[in-house]
Amino acid sequence: MDADLVVVGSGFFGLTVAERLAEEHGRKVLVIDRRAHIGGNAYSEAEPTTGIEVHRYGAHLFHTSNERVWEYVNRFTAFTSYVHRVYTTHRGEVFPMPINLGTINQFFRSSYGPDAARELVKELSAELGGKKPTNLDEQGVSLIGRPLYEAFIRDYTAKQWQTDPTELPASIISRLPVRYTYDNRYFNDTHEGLPVDGYTAWIERMADHKNIEVRLGVDFFDESQPVNKKNVVGNVPVVYTGPVDRYFDYAEGSLSWRTLDFEQEVLPTGDFQGTSVMNYADADVPYTRIHEFRHFHPERDYPTDRTVIMREFSRFAEKSDEPYYPVNTSVDREKLLAYRDLAAGEKDVLFGGRLGTYKYLDMHMAIGGALSMVDNKLAPYFGGRESLQSGGVDA
Ligand code: FAD
Ligand code: UDP
Repeated sequence: MDADLVVVGSGFFGLTVAERLAEEHGRKVLVIDRRAHIGGNAYSEAEPTTGIEVHRYGAHLFHTSNERVWEYVNRFTAFTSYVHRVYTTHRGEVFPMPINLGTINQFFRSSYGPDAARELVKELSAELGGKKPTNLDEQGVSLIGRPLYEAFIRDYTAKQWQTDPTELPASIISRLPVRYTYDNRYFNDTHEGLPVDGYTAWIERMADHKNIEVRLGVDFFDESQPVNKKNVVGNVPVVYTGPVDRYFDYAEGSLSWRTLDFEQEVLPTGDFQGTSVMNYADADVPYTRIHEFRHFHPERDYPTDRTVIMREFSRFAEKSDEPYYPVNTSVDREKLLAYRDLAAGEKDVLFGGRLGTYKYLDMHMAIGGALSMVDNKLAPYFGGRESLQSGGVDA
């Protein structure tokens, strides 16, 4: 093998590392992925009967306030002006998300202004007595008070994470804003949009470099393949973006992950729900949300008599499932510390990305983390200044 670096996983983390090493540092990079396509979970494809772009692993909305990441991604794709808005159905009524003045006034059948609504939420969250929230349940009550928390967050979260919210870290919903205006944009970031000609075209442009070779259908742990852990580690530096527990053969036990099941349907109507994502907040609806993909690209010329929807169901991942979201209970966090120690001792192997760090990362965070890994670890290493020995785990 004449590669200077092997990257395991062709998601945004792996491809960003590969692209920078190839383009900026003139290195030869071999990228392997066990799937039959590149792009990791951001991969999308046209549904064959309608041409509507479907995100195979769940809807992906690009957003960032990181100027470096924004400049970087714009080298590979232009973005549409799509602005993400989400609605949620609770007891047969549709409310705007994230929780804003519109949600609060509709829920309480009231007409509070911002100050009165803040006052109300303060009274409603007084039950915590000023205590700093230590888990998602307390964080929810502290942010919006118990009635709104129970209506819009508690059961949705329990459905999505299959874990009691008192066992989940507060950080999961810290990313959901609460607004005392009628602004119902889902994201707060400076930049937002969808790749004009789709995720796959963007991803393919990142991988299209004479110094990058991509091999698909190759599992790093399959010893019948020429490129595998046993042959590579110790001979060629590796950036590994698969699950960290799998790398160490589950030596410290399995980390818990959530997986998703998607049920896709083509329906004989031009518009099923009038919006791209409808959440279902109540426990008696088995799915968490329905995506209707045509609404992500209103600028495209899609058929007007058919639409593609996808129901999303969430459950704990078994070993044979795709691990999508780290569950991150306190037991998981202990195991993760042990894996981090193992990772730090793994010579010439760096761990990155959502699976490699067991972190809930958005695309811009995976890309930003990869750019930092190139700057802080790989560039000094290839410049001959440092070894990769103390690599450890990077976001
Ligand atoms: P991944 O995309 O998971 O790529 C890892 C790759 O490694 C995979 O292709 C996998 O096949 C490969 N791999 C794993 N093990 C092996 C092995 N043993 N051998 C070879 N290859 C291997 N982010 C946003 O910014 N906005 C969103 O709206 C958004 N929505 C999301 C919705 C869902 C349902 C999910 C799951 C994620 C969402 N994300 C979103 C996050 C986004 O998918 C990630 O930030 C991004 O994919 C991270 O890239 P990555 O390279 O770390 O991981
Ligand atoms: N959430 C919720 N109700 C909603 C939407 C989100 O309780 O209607 C909570 C839930 O715990 C979720 C978290 O907020 O895990 C983050 O939501 P987001 O939509 O960002 O999750 P993702 O799209 O990554 O699944």
